[in-house]
Amino acid sequence: MRSFTTLNLQYAHRFYGFKGEAQYLHGHTGILTLEVADTVSPGVNMVFPCNEIQKTAWEVLQNFDHALVLREDDPLLPAILSVYETQGIKDGAPTNKQKGPAFKTELATAYPECRLVVTKETMTVEGMIKIVYDLLKDKLNIVKITFTSGVNGATQEYGQEGQHEKDRCPLCGILLKEGGVCPKCGYKK
Ligand SMILES: [Zn+2]
Ligand SMILES: [Zn+2]
Repeated sequence: MRSFTTLNLQYAHRFYGFKGEAQYLHGHTGILTLEVADTVSPGVNMVFPCNEIQKTAWEVLQNFDHALVLREDDPLLPAILSVYETQGIKDGAPTNKQKGPAFKTELATAYPECRLVVTKETMTVEGMIKIVYDLLKDKLNIVKITFTSGVNGATQEYGQEGQHEKDRCPLCGILLKEGGVCPKCGYKK
């Protein structure tokens, strides 16, 4: 069976070099749906607690929320960083509190201090799905990611259901850490 949850991400971007109106900087509320599959854990009668999917995903993905997403070769990037620098907000501001840990993957690098994500490819809905899968594939048994942004939407399925079975806590349903210990309630297998 599957558990799924939805996250909202508000971001600004543009398609550098694209010939349509999207070559201009603009913003979206993106809606990301993450589907996680496994057997129904008998202890808690769920696949995975959705608030835990949210928590795990948000930890990393909050770096995209109220953020600017630019491709690494976009000339807006040095221009914006220079303005942030002049303003003294490039390396953080007291009001910038919603920060996940900085990350760097093959496809994206997050700079939470200035709410910026630099991507290798244009950040389309398809591009976002690739980035999200890369960031979360080792943390959750993801079988499907859907991302919509305005009228644009894309979806991708991964692997086979039921082939990812990992030990989950019979008391709260989350994945057990190495040694069979629950990081939330301390249950030991
Ligand atoms: Zn757009
Ligand atoms: Zn537990």
